[in-house]
Amino acid sequence: IGADVIVASELLAEAAQTMEPLMREQGVDFVVLDDCLDGRLVGSRKALFGALVNLLENALQATPAAGKICLGGNFSGESLRFSVRDTGPGIPPEKRDRIFEPFYTTKGQGTGLGLAIALGVARAHGGTIEISPSVADGAEFVMTLPAGVATT
Ligand code: ADP
Ligand code: MG
Repeated sequence: IGADVIVASELLAEAAQTMEPLMREQGVDFVVLDDCLDGRLVGSRKALFGALVNLLENALQATPAAGKICLGGNFSGESLRFSVRDTGPGIPPEKRDRIFEPFYTTKGQGTGLGLAIALGVARAHGGTIEISPSVADGAEFVMTLPAGVATT
């Protein structure tokens, strides 16, 4: 999958910087909470960046103007946790498994590949992506990845 040594805070900032102009354009209140401390990952910087940007694109597409999107990153010592939370319509329980299937989309111009690819990327790094079970209004996706440092 790759052997880049990735500083989690930098990955978070790069994804935030990429999406910030689009968030502003839609009038979305975009908040970034960087608590990755000195957390690092080993893997593909490009693929993980793509996975995060995908979650943010979905959040943006789901969020009405004047809505809010929160991108968070934190480090527990063993794992890194990236969260993307929005104030859109949320995901009904019966769709929670289906949305990760390739080609499943509810959008006219959607490919339905974003989440399938993002989940594949997370799994290839030994991690996963989950939908938070109880978010009052909107949706939250959490990508959890094992932290790592290069030893060679
Ligand atoms: P696409 O964005 O091309 O539709 P994805 O795989 O990225 O494909 O997403 C699949 C489906 O999951 C979307 O069409 C949408 O129905 C649902 N979805 C994804 N993210 C969100 C979100 N943040 N809020 C509500 N629904 C979402
Ligand atoms: Mg998508």
